[in-house]
Amino acid sequence: MATPVTVAHGDGIGPEIMEASLQILREAGAKLEIETIEIGKQVYERGVSSGIDESAWDSLQRTKLFYKAPITTPQGGGVKSLNVTVRKTLGLFANVRPCVAYAPFVNTRHPGMDVTIIRENEEDLYAGIEHRQTQQVYQCLKLISEPGSEKIVRYAFEYARANKRKKVTCFSKDNIMKLTDGVFHKVFDRIGEEYPEIEKEHYIIDIATARLADTPKYFDVIVTSNLYGDIVSDVAAQITGSVGLGGSSNIGENFSMFEAIHGSAPDISGKGIANPSGLLLAGVMMLVHIGQGKVASAIHNAWMKTLEDGVHTGDIASEEFTKQRVGTADFTKAVIERLGQVPSTLKPVEYADGVVGSVTPWKSSGKKAVKQLVGVDMFVDWSKGSANDLGTQLEGINTDALKLVMISNRGVKVYPHGHEATFCTDHWRCRFMGANGESVSHTDVIQLLTSANEKGFDFIKTEHLCTFGGEPGFSLGQGQ
Ligand code: NAD
Repeated sequence: MATPVTVAHGDGIGPEIMEASLQILREAGAKLEIETIEIGKQVYERGVSSGIDESAWDSLQRTKLFYKAPITTPQGGGVKSLNVTVRKTLGLFANVRPCVAYAPFVNTRHPGMDVTIIRENEEDLYAGIEHRQTQQVYQCLKLISEPGSEKIVRYAFEYARANKRKKVTCFSKDNIMKLTDGVFHKVFDRIGEEYPEIEKEHYIIDIATARLADTPKYFDVIVTSNLYGDIVSDVAAQITGSVGLGGSSNIGENFSMFEAIHGSAPDISGKGIANPSGLLLAGVMMLVHIGQGKVASAIHNAWMKTLEDGVHTGDIASEEFTKQRVGTADFTKAVIERLGQVPSTLKPVEYADGVVGSVTPWKSSGKKAVKQLVGVDMFVDWSKGSANDLGTQLEGINTDALKLVMISNRGVKVYPHGHEATFCTDHWRCRFMGANGESVSHTDVIQLLTSANEKGFDFIKTEHLCTFGGEPGFSLGQGQ
């Protein structure tokens, strides 16, 4: 049975490398029923700001599988990133990037590198919730959810199990962000227990990235949140020797999308010299995902044999290893001629048929911690004096229920007992807690805000301070 797949040929070199990749997939015996859609430049130019129109969504709804060539993102305002739109609309929460060195045929300082980065794709600072709150201060909300963390962490362990990987390493910064990164790390520890055969470890992101750049062989599968994953996956792809050879997948519960890491390379478009390898290897990932592992192995092995035989496109050509410098068409022909052969220096791959990339639907445990409102952080835009001046004035808006306990500026406590040396902006976080440690109500918060309003304070937002099962759901001010 052929698997329906939506294919977009994209912009720039997109059509050339998609044609080449599909030709190899076809010759290798991939069973695909292709629906072609148009996305990118031409769609943007028709005035569709997302770069993808209704008929394309209809096709994706039918096939649930997307093989996508790179597109050119128009410069200038009013245009939305197609990739972000597709990822979010289809719930593609996992971005998977295998970063493999093909030394000595592709030059790298890290021969033997074989690391897969699994990046959370929907949350974190990339939720895009930003505000300018005062003259001086801008904010971007970092949202990390427990279900989102569970989905990505479980996917990473399932990926490791299905691909016989030995270790999963979690990267976070939970020494600083104890709640957001903290929940990611905790979920990693908890879900990891369900995979006893897989080694688990956690690294703080900064030293982890340094170690990855220096000794990638130390890592196997890496799971991390959106922003860290974005950065770390580019570092990892770069040190394999060629970003141009990387494929990636975006996986959701019901949909998946496969594409090359690189862009549409308008500088070489139409010249017939583009390397189709990134998109081809994304196609290999797609075949593994839909259970056509044998065909995927045949393509990947033939491709490695082509590299070994010194048939190279210009972007990876070297004096030492290139015997034939070829364009897209001859490279494609060379891979097709080698279908059925395996590499001798590089390690052949063997993907099992039927190992379908599994995504376990998220289910709530039903457990809910008792939530209690115990205070409120009121943020004010204020530039009329020192922290002590502000503190003294704010003591005047205390209500029976809520009392000022602390003011911080950019996270550092400045009242009471601040340090004169602390630089302060016009953005103050003023923490009011329930009198005598008692819980408070929404009405108490409204009364406090009314009191602040009457005294002329420009409050810009509030954050409720809650405990969950008695545990504080908020951080202390630095120095508090
Ligand atoms: P790019 O990846 O397209 O090109 C960077 C350099 O690498 C260029 O010199 C290019 O010639 C070369 N290169 C890239 N792919 C190659 C290949 N397959 N074979 C040989 N050489 C290759 O990055 P860019 O120039 O920054 O971006 C061009 C356009 O692509 C932009 O509009 C950008 O927004 C878009 N883009 C799209 C995607 C996507 O659709 N997923 C991803 C990244 C960039």
